[in-house]
Amino acid sequence: MSDCLFCRMVAGEIPADVVHETDRTLAFRDINPQAPTHVLVIPKDHHATAGLLVGADPQLLADVVAAAHAVAVQEGLATEDGPEPGYRLVANTGPQAGQTVHHLHLHVLGGRDLGWPPG
Ligand code: C5P
Repeated sequence: MSDCLFCRMVAGEIPADVVHETDRTLAFRDINPQAPTHVLVIPKDHHATAGLLVGADPQLLADVVAAAHAVAVQEGLATEDGPEPGYRLVANTGPQAGQTVHHLHLHVLGGRDLGWPPG
């Protein structure tokens, strides 16, 4: 979608600080980080939400989650087989949750104690 910010990042039209890439996913640092590690993981294909993607292409949603875990390992937030020290995956979905970019993205947040409940 030519008017989608994240599609334009995938196309290389807008710069992104890429930290991980597969044939179907892209991960890049958030421009307004909310934690020492704050990376966004997206499918390269345009899907607005996880709920829409899981019906259209469940393997791609699995690929996005796997990429998010790979980023967490790369950032020292987890190991291949364990969750320590830990990280949070967030998918803001819809206006009341604060979704501002309507291309599915998992926020990978970590590197500090994360409060609960979120705001
Ligand atoms: O979940 P939400 O849709 O609010 O998240 C969008 C995220 O995209 C924000 O955290 C924002 O900082 C990030 N962003 C970015 N690069 C841009 C525009 C937005 O990393 N050029």
